[in-house]
Amino acid sequence: MKLSQRICQTEASRTVRFSTLIDQMKREGKNIINFAIGEPEFETPESVRQAVKEALDAGETRYGPVGGIHELRSALARQFAGYGPENIIVSNGSKQVLYSLFQVICNPGAEVLIPSPYWVSFSQQVILAGGKPVLVNTKNHQLDCAAIEKAVTPETAAILINSPNNPTGAVYPASDLKIIADLAEKHDFCIISDEAYEYFVYDGLPFVSPFSFENIRDRLIVIRSFSKSFSMTGFRIGYAAGPEEVIAAMAKLQSHSTGNVCTFAQYGALAALSLDQRILSERKREMEKKREIACAYTAGLFPCIRPGGAFYLFPDISEYLAKTDTDEDFCTYILENTGVAVVPGRAFGRAGHVRISYGISENLLKEGFEKISESLKNLERKR
Ligand code: GLU
Repeated sequence: MKLSQRICQTEASRTVRFSTLIDQMKREGKNIINFAIGEPEFETPESVRQAVKEALDAGETRYGPVGGIHELRSALARQFAGYGPENIIVSNGSKQVLYSLFQVICNPGAEVLIPSPYWVSFSQQVILAGGKPVLVNTKNHQLDCAAIEKAVTPETAAILINSPNNPTGAVYPASDLKIIADLAEKHDFCIISDEAYEYFVYDGLPFVSPFSFENIRDRLIVIRSFSKSFSMTGFRIGYAAGPEEVIAAMAKLQSHSTGNVCTFAQYGALAALSLDQRILSERKREMEKKREIACAYTAGLFPCIRPGGAFYLFPDISEYLAKTDTDEDFCTYILENTGVAVVPGRAFGRAGHVRISYGISENLLKEGFEKISESLKNLERKR
């Protein structure tokens, strides 16, 4: 059967491919420690699970409004000064929100600036929308604002900012976000701010969203997710907050694609919004502690820029590529020799690196790093 050119020029998600592979290995009885998938190991909060059970029992099992139940959209809108439910759309994870967004803002050939390394699906989703991803290298994982301005052309439709960042964990300072906001205004393009890791900013620093810059609100779309913030990855609930016309266009698309997100799951999301903040603070503290453990182990093995957020390390493993050829071979070597799974940097547009997710339990985190350290002793290093 002939497949479309569109899908033929798209790559499958390598993070998802890894989790499928790991799942298969586990079913084969292999003992795998998963540093590959970006998922906090915390339980989904009790109040969230309870709200879903109650919604099921109350018969919330039917079609709902395409863009999300009114109560949820209203509650989400309260996070954004001046916004109402008409400025919010709820979709199947922030992945679908982003997919829909690119579909509604990209004309053929529209360029989307993406600081690189970047999360796997950004570039592929732009291609699927008929646009052109324009990758702009970061400097020490921070935005290179001068290089970004140089990459702007009359075709630039948007820039995608993801802070805290997947895969590097970098948090961009407000001053750089302001420069990007001003560039967007000067050159008339929009800003997409993927804030999936808004709850995981460390060192006592606050999370800063470009939404704090009032001058760009008419060109800003904020994307957030319940997945990482509330350990609800399987719920598949993400949302966009933005100008009404963009949200309406996304709802039009969603009316032809998925329809509404699972109705009773949305009641779980609603409950998550009134979760005791102490639970979230405690979880952040635990994750920050894991960052320390992961950074301490990594420091003895590879050069790695200390991340300020999310739950990823993105070390440079190129010294170890004397015997293994690529970062992919390196990951295969580690997986086969230790049962620890990490993702090759090239999946995120930066070869010679790997992504380590430290969202796993503390015991497994230590055990995994011990195993990696042991197996690396047998690998010849480039000097
Ligand atoms: N966002 C997570 C990750 O990067 C989940 C997998 C995915 O959707 O790509 O690991």
